[in-house]
Amino acid sequence: MRTNTFVRKLLSLVLTLAISLFVFLPSGVTPTAFAASKAEIEQKIDELDNKIEASQEKIKENDKKIDSASSSASELQSQVNAVQAQLDAYNQKIDLLNQRIAALNAEISKTESEKVKNEAKMAEQKETISITQQALAQRLRAMYISGNVSNLVILLEADSFTNFLNRLELVSRIARHDNDIISTLRDEISEYEAIEAKLEEQEKRLEEDKAGIESSKAQEQDAKSEIVSSKKVLDQKMSTLNNYISGLESNSKELQNYITSARQQQQAYMNQINAQLAQSSSTGTGTPSGDMIWPVAASGSYISSGYGSRWGTTHYGIDITHANGGSNSVPIVASASGVVKISSNACSHNYRKESNCGCNGGYGNYCVIDHGNGLLSYYGHMARSVVSVGQHVEQGQLVGYMGCTGYSTGPHLHFEIRVNDGSSRSVAARNPLNYVRQP
Ligand SMILES: [Zn+2]
Ligand SMILES: [Zn+2]
Repeated sequence: MRTNTFVRKLLSLVLTLAISLFVFLPSGVTPTAFAASKAEIEQKIDELDNKIEASQEKIKENDKKIDSASSSASELQSQVNAVQAQLDAYNQKIDLLNQRIAALNAEISKTESEKVKNEAKMAEQKETISITQQALAQRLRAMYISGNVSNLVILLEADSFTNFLNRLELVSRIARHDNDIISTLRDEISEYEAIEAKLEEQEKRLEEDKAGIESSKAQEQDAKSEIVSSKKVLDQKMSTLNNYISGLESNSKELQNYITSARQQQQAYMNQINAQLAQSSSTGTGTPSGDMIWPVAASGSYISSGYGSRWGTTHYGIDITHANGGSNSVPIVASASGVVKISSNACSHNYRKESNCGCNGGYGNYCVIDHGNGLLSYYGHMARSVVSVGQHVEQGQLVGYMGCTGYSTGPHLHFEIRVNDGSSRSVAARNPLNYVRQP
C-alpha cells in the first residue's frame, strides 16, 4: 500500500535526520585584555573569521536539511490532508446514518403510541362487552328470581298462546338486542386486533430497518477507527518532523547570535587596532601639507554613498563606485604621500553580500596611510592591497584595486579620512569631501 511505503520511508528519513542533528556551536567569544601586538589582534580577528565562516557553513547545511525536511513535511501534510478528507467523509456518512436512525426511532415511538392508543380502545371495548354480558346475566337472573327461570320456563308457564307469543317476543327481543351489542363490539375488537397486528408488523419492519442501519453504522465506525489510527501515526511523524525542523532552526538562530557577537568582538579588536594606530601614528591638526587627490585613478567614478548618518548608524567615509569595479582592475591610489600603517589582505570574500563577513571589522582588504600631522587615509573593500606596512608611498601611487571585500553589497572603494589630534587614543573620522574633490 502506497501510504505504508511512504510512512516507512519517511520514518527512516526522520531517523537519519535526527541522528545527523547535533548542536554545532563554536566556542564562545571571550573579550580579551588589550592585546600586545597588532599582529596578535589580527590573528584573533582571523580566528573569528574562521569560526564565523564555519558557523555560516553550518547554517547553510541546516538550511539544506530544513529544506529537505520541509518538503517531506509538505508531502506528509498532503497525506494528512487526504486522510483527514477520508475521515470527514466517514463522519458525514455516520452523521447521515445517525439521522436515519433518529428518524426511525421517531417512527417507532409513533407506532408505539398508536399501539398504546389502540390497546386502550380495545380494552374499553372488552370492558363494554363484559358490562353488557353482566347486564344480560342480571336481567336473566331477575327473570329467574321472579319465577321466570329461563326462556323455556317463561314460555312454558305462559297461560295462553297469546301470552306465550308475547313472552317469546320479549325474550327473543332482549337476547337479540344484547347479542347485537356484543356482536358489534366483537367486530370492533377484531378490527382493533387487525390494527394491532398491522402496527406490530410495522414496528417489526422499522426495527429491522434500524438494525440494518445500525450494522452499517458499525461498519463505517470500524473503517473510521482504522483511518483515525493511521492519522494518529501520520500526526506523530509530523510532530517528529516539526520538532526536528525547529531544532535545526534554533541551532541556526544560536549560530546567528554567535556570528553577531563574534562580529562585535571583531569590531572591538578593530577599535584596539585603531587605538594602537592612534598611539603609533603622527599627531597634529590633520591639515594636509598640500592638495590631496581623488583616490580612484580611473575616470568615471562617482560617489554612491556619502559621509555621515546612514541606515541608523554612522558612515565614517564615502563610497566611490566605478562601472568596472567588479573586474578588480580599477586602481586605487594614495591620496597624498605618506607611510603605510596598515595593509591587510585577510578577507577572501570578494563578492557582493547582504551581510558583513566581518573581515577587518567590515573593511575587508584595506590599507591605512599616515600623511603626517595626524592625518590618515583609509582605503577599504579593495580586491587586494598592494602595499606593505612601513612602506613610504608617493601621492598617486597604486595602493590596491577596487573590490567587494568586507561588508560590501557591491564593488566600491570605502574612503576615510581620520585625524589623530593626540588628545585621546582614537583617530576621529572627518568628511573626506573636505579634503579631496571629485574629478
Ligand atoms: Zn571577509
Ligand atoms: Zn563605505
